[in-house]
Amino acid sequence: MYRLAASIRKNDNVVVLTGRDRGKRGRVLRVLPMKTRVIVEGVNFVKRHTKANPQRNVKGGIVERESAVHASNVQLVCPECGAPTRVGHKRLDDGTSVRVCRK
Ligand SMILES: [Zn+2]
Repeated sequence: MYRLAASIRKNDNVVVLTGRDRGKRGRVLRVLPMKTRVIVEGVNFVKRHTKANPQRNVKGGIVERESAVHASNVQLVCPECGAPTRVGHKRLDDGTSVRVCRK
């Protein structure tokens, strides 16, 4: 189970743990359906070659876009203490589940 992946949501702030963008922080733009990969603002830019499509007024060329990173390669940044943290889950008295900082 990807517990960490399941704990990361859209608009969370995360820090990248591995690779070229290691140490970078960014906001989660999208969590992919299987929840094993996320797209993080400003992280893992890749060049994509686009074909011109005059009918849709698209110019050909190279665009740089964020590409998905594996959710296990990022860690949630706690919005309260600002530290990268593992996420715990806690069930409240009323039955709702909340994420808690393990720091
Ligand atoms: Zn915290």
